[in-house]
Amino acid sequence: VKNLDVDQTSKLDCTIIDKNGKVKICRLPDYIPQLSEVDTSLFAVSICTVDGQRMHLGDSDIYYTMQSTSKPYTYGITHAALDDVLHEYVGHEPSGQAFNKIILDNDGRPYNPMINMGAIMTCSLVHHQQPLSHRFNYFLENYKKLTGSRSTLSCNMPVYKSELEVGFMNKAAVNYMMTAPGYFLFLVIYFNPFVQVTTEIQSIMSACLANRGINPLTGESVLPIRSVKRALSLMFTCGMYDYSGRFAFKYGVPAKSGVSGVTDVVIPGVLSMTIYSPWLSTHSSSSLLGLQFIDGFIKKFPYHVFDSK
Ligand code: GLN
Repeated sequence: VKNLDVDQTSKLDCTIIDKNGKVKICRLPDYIPQLSEVDTSLFAVSICTVDGQRMHLGDSDIYYTMQSTSKPYTYGITHAALDDVLHEYVGHEPSGQAFNKIILDNDGRPYNPMINMGAIMTCSLVHHQQPLSHRFNYFLENYKKLTGSRSTLSCNMPVYKSELEVGFMNKAAVNYMMTAPGYFLFLVIYFNPFVQVTTEIQSIMSACLANRGINPLTGESVLPIRSVKRALSLMFTCGMYDYSGRFAFKYGVPAKSGVSGVTDVVIPGVLSMTIYSPWLSTHSSSSLLGLQFIDGFIKKFPYHVFDSK
């Protein structure tokens, strides 16, 4: 996959001849200016099995912001605190739309926690009467447990500031969902996408989802299985946004994409796989080389949920 023919036509655009010889148009997400300031040659894959075996390929020690691949963790942490009460505020249905579409379901809720509106609402529900600092720390402490280490996780502040400045769709989404001006605080708490990790670190976090909420490196039960089951179900049906149906049809595993070029795949009871490559397919707003790697992986290892075992 790393050797596919990439022709960069501008700072933000390229064409990639995929493994089937098809020309794929790709671009960097310029709506968050900081995300277009990346080394587009970076490519990393990390795998963590549920018994703690690790494998890393390429630039697996290079940091990136998790962006929307943080949403399953945020959902799991919030669901662990609120259980299904969470879904009085956020639905479980795929929206069939792009990740930043401003749309509510028939009950006036964001469609699901994997799209921006749903993630912003989900973030806002945890300890909502506590100070923002408490709520930041609550998520960060739980994120650290998912990483299996006490290493300090940090926000990429330039990306965070960049997005607070230009996140017009998210601000409009918050405004659309709520009326009181104080709700703009929600965006401040929607900081999880800016936590920076490597594929080595993120594959451990997702291995907790593969391993019934238990961190395979520390043995700590970080999330209740009930919340993990729901997070995986939502990844399976909604995790790839308006590409979710095609992804489930072709690959049949829970996955989550992020505009920084990261794709997270969970094979429950087996492993997690985190792939990072910044070029996004204009077809799916997911990392093109990430999808190419998954395509080859699932063809070689029949983990599609409906493969005959
Ligand atoms: N932080 C990004 C946003 O709010 C996340 C989008 C994504 O990764 N799909 O638009």
